[in-house]
Amino acid sequence: MPNKRSRCRDAYRIYCPYCELRLWRLNGPKHRLFYTGPDEISKNMNIPHGKATFSATKGPYVHEYCWLEEFFCSNHGNLWLRVRRSRDGSVNHSIARPEDWHRTTGTVSSE
Ligand SMILES: [Zn+2]
Repeated sequence: MPNKRSRCRDAYRIYCPYCELRLWRLNGPKHRLFYTGPDEISKNMNIPHGKATFSATKGPYVHEYCWLEEFFCSNHGNLWLRVRRSRDGSVNHSIARPEDWHRTTGTVSSE
């Protein structure tokens, strides 16, 4: 079961979106995503528009629990995934898209 409690709270498994093999973490840098503008902040951070407007005046909003990270699949090689951790500890991930790279604090680009 994916939601079974693990001994280590930080341990979570990531599987290849293509072949469903378990992926290896490369322990490379995590590129946190950030959002700019009230609309983006409100939509992605799930906060009221008024609060987002206020946040936007202070600059980009960095998402602490959403980042791009490199993984390795024995079938598909290196993969950059967008990982998003919820407050309850569950993790969602998907292949990083070009627009995700435009929102990271890092400079690595897939383009
Ligand atoms: Zn794979």
